[in-house]
Amino acid sequence: MKLAISVIALALVAAGIALAAAPAKAAKGTSEVIEKVVKTDEEWKKILTPEQFNVLRKEGTERAFTSPLNHNHEKGVYVCAACGLTLFSSDTKFDSGTGWPSFWAPIDPSHVTTKSDRSFFMDRTEVRCARCGGHLGHVFPDGPKPTGLRYCMNGVSLKFEPAK
Ligand code: FE
Repeated sequence: MKLAISVIALALVAAGIALAAAPAKAAKGTSEVIEKVVKTDEEWKKILTPEQFNVLRKEGTERAFTSPLNHNHEKGVYVCAACGLTLFSSDTKFDSGTGWPSFWAPIDPSHVTTKSDRSFFMDRTEVRCARCGGHLGHVFPDGPKPTGLRYCMNGVSLKFEPAK
């Protein structure tokens, strides 16, 4: 009897280890499997500028009206400055007047994740890159049609790739 219990206990432990070791590949309900990029702060510091590190890894906010991407109207895509995942298309970019690059939709809903953010006495929804978890900005419900959403992004979190 004791042996049987021991065997069952061992099997449960093994199953638990197997589950814990399985990588989290995609958020629930998304259309695409996104392979995660996981790095330590020290590793990120080697590939990001101090400004990029502060925003992407420490949830900082760039000063309004400082991003050269604010007035970029070229055709192309905006990718994560940390991991290169495509995040936004120039087709959904609009001038919000806020001082930060703004979009009314991500290029693919599975390429960003959102989470409630109640810091600084505000009730906001934070937006992150689905691959590296980098902080991008926030999404607000006061955007233009067709979605009515305003993805208010830090330009420093994005890199623009012109259409070929
Ligand atoms: Fe990323």
